[in-house]
Amino acid sequence: MDQACPSCGNRQIEKGVLSAGFSALQLHKKGQLHSKSSPVGARYCSKCGHILSLYVENPDILGGHEADSPKSN
Ligand SMILES: [Zn+2]
Repeated sequence: MDQACPSCGNRQIEKGVLSAGFSALQLHKKGQLHSKSSPVGARYCSKCGHILSLYVENPDILGGHEADSPKSN
């Protein structure tokens, strides 16, 4: 939250969600296109529009490792 925009120095960083059409852009873990997915979010500068970072909203549901066993539900 304390991060400033590296491009213009603005400290007001907003959150957004990437979308394609009417739905949020989803990220699937590689090789698991038919499995769980998570919406992709972004943090961007409210002033110049610079995107500071992209991230998945729900990294937990993507699974951390290649193991098929779910950690927790
Ligand atoms: Zn900026």
